[in-house]
Amino acid sequence: MPTYARKDITFTKGNGIWLWDKDNNQYLDALSGIAVCGLGHAHPQVAEAISKQANTLLHTSNIYRIQAQEQLGDLLCEISQMDRVFFCNSGAEANEAAIKLARLHGHARGIDNPSIIVFENSFHGRTMATLTATGNRKAHAGFEPLLSGFIRAPFNDIATVTDICKTNNNVCAILVEPIQGEGGINVPNADYLTTLRNICDQHNLLLMLDEIQTGNGRTGRWFACQHQNVQPDVMTTAKGLGNGMPIGACLARGAAAELFSPGTHGSTFGGNPLACATALQVLHTIQEQHLITNADNMGALLVDQLKSKLTNETLVNDIRGQGLMIGIELTENCAEIVDLALSKKLLINVTAGNVIRILPPLIINADQVTQVTDSICECIAEFKNQQ
Ligand SMILES: *Cc1c(COP(=O)(O)O)cnc(C)c1O
Repeated sequence: MPTYARKDITFTKGNGIWLWDKDNNQYLDALSGIAVCGLGHAHPQVAEAISKQANTLLHTSNIYRIQAQEQLGDLLCEISQMDRVFFCNSGAEANEAAIKLARLHGHARGIDNPSIIVFENSFHGRTMATLTATGNRKAHAGFEPLLSGFIRAPFNDIATVTDICKTNNNVCAILVEPIQGEGGINVPNADYLTTLRNICDQHNLLLMLDEIQTGNGRTGRWFACQHQNVQPDVMTTAKGLGNGMPIGACLARGAAAELFSPGTHGSTFGGNPLACATALQVLHTIQEQHLITNADNMGALLVDQLKSKLTNETLVNDIRGQGLMIGIELTENCAEIVDLALSKKLLINVTAGNVIRILPPLIINADQVTQVTDSICECIAEFKNQQ
């Protein structure tokens, strides 16, 4: 169905940060399949893990214990300091699990109509509940009636959240991205999550962080909340976890980790041996190759280069991000930049209309960072000439 406005390009193979189309043109992938392929393409250890698992056991269902799922669960809990995990197949599904946990938490507190605070310009997925949570009217259009039980507040604005909590006794949770991805790489104040954590503690709300895009090393920490030393009650992740193998996870801590019981949630495919063995290898490789430090360093280098080369560029409003999640906000809408970059064999994207989004693989090196900087600066100059 025509759900995507696709570019007329077909990639047929990849290696590391590089992709090749069917005419054998070579591209630098600074988008990673939207923050998915952190280890780049055709990673030998990942390919090996998939092949080994495929030759052993693909699927048995959650009626039985699954060794790779237990190992991945343990490792995810260790790197996130969470207690338990529910496995599913996508980001939206992980958020569905979080939303169900929030409602269980509300009902356990005697709230009949529990509500979750969500934010303007957020993105949480395309299922009915996650679409409702998403703060974008265009995404809602035509799909009404939306779900009840969501209250929207401006992002990075504590006063409104405080007001809602004071006046509304139905609030049970706050669902928020540590850095808004689809919304335009919006980085909140350094103490934003800490303050939300305090509000949640005060009012007995679950702090639920959507780390679907920011997780798994992308921002230069395992999870973005670790920059602020904030521990959520619920955390969701997906994109970079499987390096392209579909997998999502909803993690919980403390009382929130005990809300589900047998029969209250589930998934046929979720956490199957193939997906879990792959994700386990992805996390091990990120660890062994120190790719989180690399993301931190290369991200800082990229932002430095962009800032120094674009200081006098009047078209550029702001350059921001954390680790390898970087946005360049222009003064005007700039969808055409994607095609300009394509003609230079560079993959980037534009989100929120006027923000160039750069999400390179975590394996990117300093030379490749310079290539990305040079290419993007050329694109911006050409875009300006065309105006
Ligand atoms: C991509 C994304 C989702 C949705 O994930 P899907 O796997 O596409 O369902 C949810 N939240 C955030 C922050 C995302 O970036």
